[in-house]
Amino acid sequence: AKTLRLLLGDQLNSNHSWFQTTDDSVRYVLMEIRSETDYAIHHIQKIVGFFAAMRHFASELKEKNHRVIYYQLNDPANLQAFDKNLNQLIETENFTQFEYQLPDEYRLDEIMKNFCQSLAISYSVTDSEHFMSTRTELGDFFDGKKTFLMESFYQRMRKKHNILMQGDKPLTGKWNYDGDNRKKLPAAHKPTPPLVFNTDVSEIVSEIKKTNIKTIGTIDAQYFVWPTSRKQSLELLDFFVAECLPLFGSYQDAMTPNEWSLYHSRISFSMNVKLISPLEVIHRAISAWEKRPEEIGYNQLEGFVRQIIGWREYMRGIYWNKMPDFAALNFFNNQNKLPDWYWTGKTKMNCLKDAINQSLQYAYAHHIQRLMVTGNFALLAGVHPDEVDAWYLGIYIDAIEWVEITNTRGMSQFADGGIVGTKPYVSSATYIDKMSHYCGSCFYKKALKTGDKACPFNSLYWNFYDKNEDKLGKNPRVGMMYNVRHKMKPEDKAALLQQADYYLKNINEL
Ligand code: FAD
Ligand code: SF4
Repeated sequence: AKTLRLLLGDQLNSNHSWFQTTDDSVRYVLMEIRSETDYAIHHIQKIVGFFAAMRHFASELKEKNHRVIYYQLNDPANLQAFDKNLNQLIETENFTQFEYQLPDEYRLDEIMKNFCQSLAISYSVTDSEHFMSTRTELGDFFDGKKTFLMESFYQRMRKKHNILMQGDKPLTGKWNYDGDNRKKLPAAHKPTPPLVFNTDVSEIVSEIKKTNIKTIGTIDAQYFVWPTSRKQSLELLDFFVAECLPLFGSYQDAMTPNEWSLYHSRISFSMNVKLISPLEVIHRAISAWEKRPEEIGYNQLEGFVRQIIGWREYMRGIYWNKMPDFAALNFFNNQNKLPDWYWTGKTKMNCLKDAINQSLQYAYAHHIQRLMVTGNFALLAGVHPDEVDAWYLGIYIDAIEWVEITNTRGMSQFADGGIVGTKPYVSSATYIDKMSHYCGSCFYKKALKTGDKACPFNSLYWNFYDKNEDKLGKNPRVGMMYNVRHKMKPEDKAALLQQADYYLKNINEL
């Protein structure tokens, strides 16, 4: 009997039980295919990151005496789709069994299910052995509930995996340290420079350039910044724990010009392709805190653990509970197009210019840039969630649909009407100014609501609440906004709406 085992580009988990023994009758197959490079317009660094990591992973498997079939992008035999390549292999090499790991993405899950139904040989599917909760765990946990509170799921995960617990109580008696975190960077503060890898990926880049794959963003092919192996991913994790964790929580929401990574870990890509696992990530963080409790405050550690076993697992649970319907939700019925400058960074708005330019340059922006700058603006501008999703799914190196769409359509665009968040994440210039150093040198004035120099966030913010009163007016978490608005003088309100209207009509000129 001969077995063919498929490994998807985000299933690079060398600790998977599949690899614990070698077996000459088993072949592993990995493929660089057009169906994957073309389902969104990806950042060039995202495609390169995936292919480089896959190639590295395949060669490591071979070194460990596993037998591997690898389709490179331009191989003449490559039929550019999973089912076609698999069928070709099964026919020519007489496999009698096919196996794959549970995909993280709904689209691929369907492709694989359909493929297996068409097979004449036997098949089986196994877990990817990466996540700390199953696909259905969140759905079962919140069964019958209308809102899915992240905090409750996070606490369940802490208890289930016995992380920072004392019996069934949180170690310090308190679950949540958000109140101690999220500060602005002090003006003279110079953050630790990020660790980057400077890998030469010119070969892959030139192979991609030979095709007509449409990409966005830039790449420095000889100095690729992202980790492409487990070894590099662990180095990045160790760097984070040594250098960044002590200030992670404090500056988790801070933004400042020309600092693209601050105290963030940048391990989302490594984790999402499974080079490293969430459990080992938090174990390293916890053991560093145990060794250096004076340097790493508990609030910093808790803030980090919450992101990984809270938010990340929660988003995955939402995804499997709500897909495929989730992908079509548009609570506000927004219909606008994304401004052209989302693809070029050419806007006078400092905060957006910085967030977009760094995304084009690094395929990365941190959470608050994604949520409160680009996401905030798109929602205020009434952009169709499909457009917003397409942008986020393409531009970030860590963007895989299960975690992209739940964050974008759910958390950021409130297109789910409040499954992920209890209120829309929108703000005027006040919040951006509170958390960043962008406004001072901006063409627009943060304090102005109307006029040529008025910060667009200000009028668009009030316009958003005005336009969506029927949908939000009864939401207790935004009631205060409506009280303020109702007290506004009619002429002030009219001027704000007129300003917003002007900006919306000239959105590409902002
Ligand atoms: P850190 O700030 O160092 O956080 C550590 C880890 O916590 C991250 O690596 C990530 O795995 C996890 N994490 C933190 N916040 C979240 C969250 N909200 N959801 C899930 N995991 C989280 N993350 C992705 O991995 N892929 C995406 O495509 C993606 N799209 C997003 C789109 C929008 C509009 C928003 C608001 C957020 C998105 N996120 C996404 C979540 C988050 O912004 C990124 O995980 C994070 O910025 C990655 O950088 P980091 O590794 O430096 O994170
Ligand atoms: Fe952004 Fe407005 Fe501040 Fe300019 S003034 S940086 S547009 S929030």
